[in-house]
Amino acid sequence: TTSLNCQSCASTGTSGSSSWASPYKILMLGDVGVGKSTLVTQFMSSEYSNSSQDEVLEKPVSVLLDGEEYELIFIDHPIRADIMDPDDEVASSADAYVVVYSVADRDTFEKAIDILFCLRERGYTATQAVILVANKTDMVRSRDVTREEGRTVAISYECKYSETSALINHKVDDLLVGIVSQIRLKTQQLSD
Ligand code: GDP
Ligand code: MG
Repeated sequence: TTSLNCQSCASTGTSGSSSWASPYKILMLGDVGVGKSTLVTQFMSSEYSNSSQDEVLEKPVSVLLDGEEYELIFIDHPIRADIMDPDDEVASSADAYVVVYSVADRDTFEKAIDILFCLRERGYTATQAVILVANKTDMVRSRDVTREEGRTVAISYECKYSETSALINHKVDDLLVGIVSQIRLKTQQLSD
């Protein structure tokens, strides 16, 4: 079984006993309005405060999984999150790519597919963790993209598929564990 403990780094680091590997960088990608910032907010403690809208936001989260502590930095760009500039150091040096769409908006699903295509073209999918996230699953009546469709795309782009509702905090912990697990898996595969 896995244990999960998620808290803001602001409230940790006092013990000095834990030694982290360098923090994992996780890039949040997907159309505007799909729920990236809400997800990251849920990943963190409730004492989240809004920052400036025009800079890349770097939000640290510490996760305890299978007795090991991981520091994750979520890079949540408010505006250009759908764009993958190959020369961008942040875009090319991430440990994981979380590609989010809203199940209630097919356009955002198409955008997510474009991003997955980009990630595969640039070779990131082979070496880094890529997770496709179907968010807003609470919007049952206006659901526009089925689980089957999401799964099928994830399989064809060789990434992990997760469904969440950031709004009601449903399966968000599973996603967080999934991100760490995928990073560990890729790291192990590369060192084999
Ligand atoms: P971002 O642009 O991708 O960062 O999206 P935000 O996190 O700012 O969310 C955009 C809007 O969608 C906000 O009004 C959120 O409250 C709402 N939202 C985010 N996640 C969910 C969800 O799981 N379900 C529903 N119904 N609304 C959500
Ligand atoms: Mg945002």
